[in-house]
Amino acid sequence: MAKFAVIGLGKFGMTVATTLYKNGAEVVAIDNNQELIDEVKDSVSVAVNMNSTNEKALKMNGIQDMDAVILAIGNNIEVSVLTSVILKKLGVSNIYAKVDSKVHARILELLGIKNIIFPEEQIGLQIANSLLSGNILEYVDLSSGHSVIEFKVPESWVGKTLQELALPTKRGVNVVAIKYTAQEITEDGENVTIQRVNDLPGANDVIKHGDVLVLIGPKTKINNLITETSKKGF
Ligand code: ADP
Repeated sequence: MAKFAVIGLGKFGMTVATTLYKNGAEVVAIDNNQELIDEVKDSVSVAVNMNSTNEKALKMNGIQDMDAVILAIGNNIEVSVLTSVILKKLGVSNIYAKVDSKVHARILELLGIKNIIFPEEQIGLQIANSLLSGNILEYVDLSSGHSVIEFKVPESWVGKTLQELALPTKRGVNVVAIKYTAQEITEDGENVTIQRVNDLPGANDVIKHGDVLVLIGPKTKINNLITETSKKGF
């Protein structure tokens, strides 16, 4: 079984730790905030309240035997740097470090950390790429913190009904309309392709190849959907 340690249980570290554990990995979660330790303890293998700059404590918890250590302290460069140095000293070769700034990234680079994660930048990149890839035809931010997008359906959705996709419950976004093309015959007997809009989509409507969904939801949910569906093989 793969073994990981996650140090720092902010939003990022917490998500990484619980997701690894949910998927069958052994996870040691570390933070010096007892509230976070209590929150995570049933969703990881072991939760330890300790200071990540305490070399002895890291060693006692077997940090050197992990397949990878995820260092998720972005908001305190000093602690992140010191912890990185100790992890290297203890022989941890596979370190993934989350940073919140370019300066932080640069310092860890100089320390020889190869896997540096800058979440905002990476999500920004993914979303820009996905916009460029043509899956997102429109992206409008509303002042309420919601976004509206026109979204070309991925192949894996084709043939499913809206009820099966369950976008509101599973992804927190609502389908406002389905844009589709239809082959129709004009009065003169001519075969034409016409753009149509179903602006009252129902649970039994089936997604077809080439359909474009108009979706609305909180910006974070919309961005999650874009990021996830832009992955290879989705
Ligand atoms: P996010 O941006 O993902 O919410 P943060 O970088 O703000 O993440 O979270 C840092 C986490 O690291 C916090 O939960 C904090 O309690 C923890 N932390 C900070 N310093 C230490 C330390 N010296 N030892 C262990 N955990 C620490």
